[in-house]
Amino acid sequence: MLRSLLLYLSDRQLPKRLLLRSALGRKLASRFIAGETLDDAIRVARELNGKGFEVTLDFLGESVHEAAAAEEATRVYLSILDRIASEKLRSHISIKLTQLGLDIDEAQAQRNLERLWRRAHAIGSFVRIDMENSAHTDATLRVFHAAQAPPESLGIVIQSYLRRSEQDVDELLRRGARIRLCKGAYKEPESVAFPDKADVDRSYIRLTERLLASGIYHAFATHDSKMVEAAKAFARARGVAPEAFEFQMLHGIRRGLQRELVRQGYRVRVYVPYGHQWYPYFMRRLAERPANLLFLIRNLLRG
Ligand SMILES: Cc1cc2nc3c(=O)[nH]c(=O)nc-3n(C[C@H](O)[C@H](O)[C@H](O)COP(=O)(O)OP(=O)(O)OC[C@H]3O[C@@H](n4cnc5c(N)ncnc54)[C@H](O)[C@@H]3O)c2cc1C
Repeated sequence: MLRSLLLYLSDRQLPKRLLLRSALGRKLASRFIAGETLDDAIRVARELNGKGFEVTLDFLGESVHEAAAAEEATRVYLSILDRIASEKLRSHISIKLTQLGLDIDEAQAQRNLERLWRRAHAIGSFVRIDMENSAHTDATLRVFHAAQAPPESLGIVIQSYLRRSEQDVDELLRRGARIRLCKGAYKEPESVAFPDKADVDRSYIRLTERLLASGIYHAFATHDSKMVEAAKAFARARGVAPEAFEFQMLHGIRRGLQRELVRQGYRVRVYVPYGHQWYPYFMRRLAERPANLLFLIRNLLRG
């Protein structure tokens, strides 16, 4: 119920305005968000690289409704790629197609995506298309397939909570695509997503095994020790080397586990979001875990 409430609030304007305006809101968000500027994000990426982590940078922002805003987001992402190249960072970018104009015109999102993956390709980086809610799954996969980009330059995300994911994975693996597997962060109807967490976890493990057996480089995005252990055990049993896949976790979440995995010789990529539009991202993180909400309330009471 709490999760539903927080996800509902993540879409509302009033709590958004209140949090954005308050210094405390920004301070709490800084647990999960690198800052509001590209310099903030680059500084965090450099520090993480220094500690042995790979990085993916996310310029926060969701669906845009004007072509000019989609153009602006694309321009920002091109400048991130330029900084990654000039500062020799080990970093990718993570983008949302609605940010590149998917809800306005699929062809425009397609063109903007092409500019990004071509620049990433030129500098040896990579573009990951985040997966949004199920209303966008078909269009996201369509744009991804139409891009026909080399797998080492462009990849996609699959959510284990969706009933359709096994079929989507079949098609993606046939085409050699690199996949980030996550559980899924949006509120979805039972008709499209498993309502029971145990089913989402079972689906995650089944898909993990399919991906690890594929011989393609994939990413396992989760903070769940059970999912991490399942991936490690399957890889060991099948002789899949630790360099043949990576774990991914969000900035500020389970830092101890992130460090431990690097210590054990696994690749860990930290997803580092930045930008002034941090509110929906922040609310989704709160919705995922009541402890994060308690942290917020404790700080509010102290403040
Ligand atoms: C790198 C990355 C990229 C992502 N990209 C997408 C995307 O493109 N689309 C999308 O829909 N979703 C995305 N997600 C979000 C994802 O779908 C889940 O909503 C989110 O990761 C929570 O699921 P979980 O696997 O971490 O485990 P959960 O089932 O939420 O939690 C399982 C266990 O993990 C531990 N845990 C989880 N969160 C915390 C925490 N904050 N602090 C301490 N322990 C914790 C706890 O032990 C918990 O019991 C992404 C997540 C990551 C890490």
